[in-house]
Amino acid sequence: MNKLFIAGNWKMNLLLKESQELILRIDHGIRPLNLENIEVITAPSMVNLVPVSMQIVTLKSDIKLSAQNMHFEEKGAFTGEASPAQLKSIATKYVILGHSERRYIFGESDEFINKKVHAALKEDMRPILCIGETLEERESGKTYDILQRQIRRGLDGVSQQDLGEIVIAYEPVWAIGTGVSATPEMAAETHDMIRKYIYESFGENSMNIPLLYGGSMNEKNAEDLLRQHNINGGLIGGSSLKAGSFLNIIKTARTILDEKKTS
Ligand code: PEP
Repeated sequence: MNKLFIAGNWKMNLLLKESQELILRIDHGIRPLNLENIEVITAPSMVNLVPVSMQIVTLKSDIKLSAQNMHFEEKGAFTGEASPAQLKSIATKYVILGHSERRYIFGESDEFINKKVHAALKEDMRPILCIGETLEERESGKTYDILQRQIRRGLDGVSQQDLGEIVIAYEPVWAIGTGVSATPEMAAETHDMIRKYIYESFGENSMNIPLLYGGSMNEKNAEDLLRQHNINGGLIGGSSLKAGSFLNIIKTARTILDEKKTS
């Protein structure tokens, strides 16, 4: 796949003014860049989605908007939640689903996440399905079983046609927010397994599913990670909160794609 996805997950960080300032700086930084085959995505916190969306439209920016979560129901008595249609109505293009913080802090199951995947697809939003093993699971040799189960159940019932809308983010739980990224070799090995597994499970159309790596990716390690054959981008937490770091990762993506073109 000759496309790289660089996605920032801002989590529950940044006040409105700070979010808008960050968007402004990212937009300013990407304007002179050739973004062919690079998808730049930001996921502000829910409360800031509407003003950030309006800002992106006003700026005519290439930044794509993502939500960090949503409910699967269309509407109704779900206090504190946002529906797929509500997110779509404010021009949300992506939605992060099944992030480990949702799985482990808020108790979301694979089945619950699967309903959200279908609900997002129904509203033409692209789900970024997060999967990942805990340290304990890795150390006890269960990584592949866990990831395959999360993919199998998370994508259960997704049609061949919709496979092209799916994005998978492999985020080892032990690497998230810890400053300890998976090594490029370890990430590559796991991504190769994921690519093989989805090919065997879903066939040729699964080749269009981008596989992002997430877990302490930063401007220093991004190059080695993004150069791996089956790593098609990054889902970036901490380092997406600093315009300079996030822009450097985007520039690294540009360099890698340009090199591929000429080689
Ligand atoms: C994340 O939460 O999606 C993430 C990858 O965070 P960080 O980059 O901070 O590890």
